[in-house]
Order: sequence, then C-alpha cells, then structure tokens
Amino acid sequence: MGSISLLEKPHIVFIPFPAQGHINPMLKLAKILHSKGFHVTFVNTEFNHRRLLKSRGPDSLKGVESFRFETIPDGLPVSDDDATQDIPSLCESTTNTSLAPFKDLLARLNDTVSSNVPPVSCIVSDGIMSFTLEAAEELGIPEVLFWTTSACGFLAYTQYAKLIEEGYTPLKGKCGLYHASYLTNGYLDTIIADEIPGMEGIRLKDIPSFIRTTNPDEYMLKFVLQETERARRASAVILNTFEELEHDCIKTLSSFLPPVYAIGPLHFLQKQVRDKSLEILGSNLWKEDQHCLEWLDSKEPNSVLYVNFGSITVVTPKQLIEFAWGLANSNQTFLWIIRPDLVTGDDAILPPEFLEATKERSMLSLWCHQEKVLSHPSIGGFLTHSGWNSTLESIGSGVPMICWPFFAEQQTNCWFSCTKWGIGMEIDSDVKRDEVEILVKELMIGEKGKEMKEKALEWKKLAQDSSKYSHGSSYKNLEKLINQLLLSPK
Ligand code: UDP
Repeated sequence: MGSISLLEKPHIVFIPFPAQGHINPMLKLAKILHSKGFHVTFVNTEFNHRRLLKSRGPDSLKGVESFRFETIPDGLPVSDDDATQDIPSLCESTTNTSLAPFKDLLARLNDTVSSNVPPVSCIVSDGIMSFTLEAAEELGIPEVLFWTTSACGFLAYTQYAKLIEEGYTPLKGKCGLYHASYLTNGYLDTIIADEIPGMEGIRLKDIPSFIRTTNPDEYMLKFVLQETERARRASAVILNTFEELEHDCIKTLSSFLPPVYAIGPLHFLQKQVRDKSLEILGSNLWKEDQHCLEWLDSKEPNSVLYVNFGSITVVTPKQLIEFAWGLANSNQTFLWIIRPDLVTGDDAILPPEFLEATKERSMLSLWCHQEKVLSHPSIGGFLTHSGWNSTLESIGSGVPMICWPFFAEQQTNCWFSCTKWGIGMEIDSDVKRDEVEILVKELMIGEKGKEMKEKALEWKKLAQDSSKYSHGSSYKNLEKLINQLLLSPK
C-alpha cells in the first residue's frame, strides 16, 4: 500500500461474536489485514475484555497506534464469572441490544478530530452479528460478514428454511437441543431427500443441531433463519476454510450469496504475513498452561492422544467417567484438557483409581495453546468435539480425529470429517467406555488410524499450499478481497 500517513489509512472495524471460537479467527484476520496496511479497531464485549486482561495481562490488549481495542456491552447481566456464557442468550442479547452501542462507537471513531483515527471505511462483522449491517448501511460503507464456521456447516444452516418448509423440522415428539436419547429413535438418521449440492447423502443428524426442537418458535431456529437470510445483504462473505477442502460447498454457497472468499486456514495465512508488532496480542480467554508443551517434548513422535472439547461443550459427570475409563483401558498416552467449567453439576470428580492407573502416561490440564499442542510432533490423534477451529487446526497439523460433536454445526463437521475427508471416526453421543477404548486404540495403533493419518497429512499439505504467498488459493482470495472490495468504494 506504500507509505501513507496514519489518518489516510483505510480503517476496518472488526466485531466478532463474543465466544472463543469466534474471537480467535477474527483476531487473526484483523492482524493479517493490519499487516496489509489497514488501520484496525477490534471490538470485544466488556465481559471478554475483562477476561482477556485476566488471562493474558494488560499488554496483550494494548495494541499499537494503528491497531486498537474498543468494547461494547453484550446486554447480559453483569457477571464476574469466568465460565462460558450461554450461547443462545448471547445471540439474543447481542441481536437485541448491541446495535445502539455499536453505532455510538462508530460515531465516536468517525469524529476524527477527537478520535485521532481515520474515518471507518469498512466493517468486518461476525456472520451471527448481522445487526451490524444496519450500521454499515447507514454510513454507506461496505460490510463483510465473516462466518467462522466451515463452508459445509454454513451451507447446512442456509438449508433451515427448506427443512422447515419440507416438514423435517420442528420435530415431532420429545426432544432437546443437545445429546439426548431421542437420537436413538432413528428419525434423525433420515437422509434429506431433496439433495443439497455438495452435501449428497447428508442425514438430519448431521445438520446443525438447532433443528432438534419440537418448538416452532424455538429462538435458535429463528435466529439461524434470520442470520442466514441477512447474509445476502453483505458486500461479501468470508470463510475460514480452503477451496481444495470444501470446493463443492463453497460453490453452492456462491450461487446464492454475495461473493464468497475462502481465506483459510487463517493460522497459516497469518504466518505468511507475520507482523512482529502484534505478536503479543492474543485471544485466549483462559490462561494457557505452558507445561503441556514441555511434557509433550518428552514423548515419542505420534504417541500421544490429545483430548479437548473446546470452549463451550459441557459433559455430564457420567460422560466424564466413561471417557476417563475408556482412556485408561486403551493403554494409550494422553493429554486431556479439562476446562474448569467442562463438567456440569457439582460431583464432577475423576476417580482416584483412574488417576492412579494413568499417572505414568497422562497429563491433565485446564487450558492449553491448542495450535501449538496440535502441531507438536508427539501428537498422534485428537479426540475432539468437532468445533470448526479445532477441526481446521487438526487438519493443518495432519492429525486424525475421533469426533464427539456437541452442538451447532459440529455435527456437520463430524460428518464431513468421517465420510468425505477420511480423517475422522465418530463416537456415539451416548458415550460408553468400551467404545472409547476401541476407537482410541484404532486411531493410535490400528490400521484405520494409519490410513486416516496418511489422509490427514495429504490435507495438511493442501492446506499449507492454499496459504502460500501469491499463488495459494486462499492467499489469492485474500488479495482479491482486499483489492476488489476493501480498497474500492461500495
Ligand atoms: N482452544 C485453545 N485451548 C484450549 C481449548 C481451545 O487454544 O485448551 C482454542 C482452539 O485452538 C480453537 C478455539 O479455542 O481455536 C475453540 O474453537 P472451536 O471452534 O474448535 O470450538 P468452540 O470452543 O467454539 O466450541
């Protein structure tokens, strides 16, 4: 972009949905575009800003002159709790209350005399914070929606209207949003008859979980309908994926949406444009345990199973015990991250017999730097909840997975990992120790595990190639996005 003064730089305001799996990729994108010459304002909720200060210290949010942090409230009652916020409540509160403070913030930033920053020229908003479109439209500036899901997950969300119209959902009978016994009645095994290009053969159980309701007024059902419909109003849509992995789904999305840019994996792209001044900025809401990496250093290559269910998934005490004994009985070495609020209820303890039986070959911790853990040579497999960031980080590290999807589009990611990409094995939602034991052994020392590892390494190579400077597909898409949209008027 050449040398231009600070106040002449194009100015992008980034606003992620306030959950870990959304802040992480949004911060990466913001850093990448900063290194490409943009002035950046990054908007966190007050709640998350406080948590980031606590987990990472004040320097991690200081920024530099052309990269600044701002906050707005999330609309939920003020809480000192460090636990994960309830996602449906956050969707509802941000949708209903965050537009006014966001507009106030934009007005302050655009008062260039007092703000000392360039006028806002573009908004990059999370796909599920689409209320921001109104602010962009009022200012007459472009807005890019960043759906932090996989392309397959996003495509599945866009099918909700059709699934309602064709009577697949709301479901009939007793049901709930998450893992539950209704999964066993067989209805969710129904294959969707009217095929979705790119998702041929998909079953209801692989569609993002919010269709698992009997209530036609279920908030999350309506929320998804609204957010996917509004995506059509954006100037462009960004996805943290790469064309080689999700070509067909991206193509289908592109047939009815504004231009769709696949620019992932962002953690690879970020390496191509590393910006030293921003290295200290991070987005982990929990404090990282550095010892995990030292412990991994002492292990043989491909010998450790990594177990982590991300930032939102919860397990019951019974499920915790089943996983624990499955891991113990598999005789494999494992690193298990048990987030402080992972287990529901008060009687969430691991049996002393389990701790005794596995103490020579396990490490338990509360939170880690997952990207570093997954790319450590000693990691041979990942037992995951199939969150999109986790899946993409695993693909980027060539690590095959056992998938235990919890909610949202994790079910879709699991189905693609297992049936289309050849890098996953699904574990039953009603988890039992014997199945855990069998699948862990298969993944770590079995024939299927070996095949999956080879496949995962092939995807890793394609992921690396996609982010390569100047000619990788994601790198080229990023350049297109910058040139075609962000630098030119609407
Ligand atoms: N993560 C991490 N350390 C942990 C657990 C998770 O750094 O101990 C990061 C992980 O690398 C990923 C994000 O948190 O970037 C989780 O996002 P994902 O989409 O996988 O799942 P979610 O938390 O949204 O369910």
